[in-house]
This record gives sequence, C-alpha cells and structure tokens, in this order.
Amino acid sequence: MAYEPTDDFYCDFVFSGKVEIDRVFETENVLAYHHTRPFWETHVVVVPKRHVASVQTILPDNADLLIEIISVVNKVAAEIVTKTGAARVITNLGEYQESKHLHFHVCSGKQTRADNAT
Ligand SMILES: [Zn+2]
Repeated sequence: MAYEPTDDFYCDFVFSGKVEIDRVFETENVLAYHHTRPFWETHVVVVPKRHVASVQTILPDNADLLIEIISVVNKVAAEIVTKTGAARVITNLGEYQESKHLHFHVCSGKQTRADNAT
C-alpha cells in the first residue's frame, strides 16, 4: 500500500487507523505489530500509543512508559529468539530516525530491503 511521506508514521497512520496493522501484542500504552514494509525476514515494531519523539526524550517524565515499552520489546524479542535463534533490537536517532515517534525494531533473519523507512 502507498502512503504519503510523513515524519510521524505512527500518529499519522497507525494510531489514526489509516493503515491496517497485524498486531503481535499490546498493552494499555504500547503496541507491537508486524512492520508494514519489513526490511528483515522477521520484523516487529514496538511503539508507544501516545506520542514520544525518541528514546532521547522519554526520560525523566515517562520512566513508567519506558519500562512498559522495554517489557513489550523483551517479550516480543524472546518469542523471536525462541523461533529463530536470534534477534536484534534497534531504535534510531537523528537522521537515522525517519519517523519522529519513538519505536523499536525487533528483527531477525536476512535483511530484505536496504532502506530504513519508518
Ligand atoms: Zn507520534
């Protein structure tokens, strides 16, 4: 599916309901779903449901949210490690962070695309 470029894919498309997602797991404040355009064979995104710009801005006021996010990352990563034997957990900053809403990539397997979009 095609969507207009934006600097916040999560607020503009995922949480506004404009794009369909395949949920892996969610809590009250955190969503994990299969990347809509994966660049790894296994590629899950973990994202807070309310806007946080990046891992650089989450503290000191959102420590509880950060713990909730990491707990979801840990659960998703553990399931991927069980299935595939390995996982990577990545969060991007600055020019590497295309979508300016904190998100963690939990991925495994071969890279299927070169670019790092959203
Ligand atoms: Zn946002």
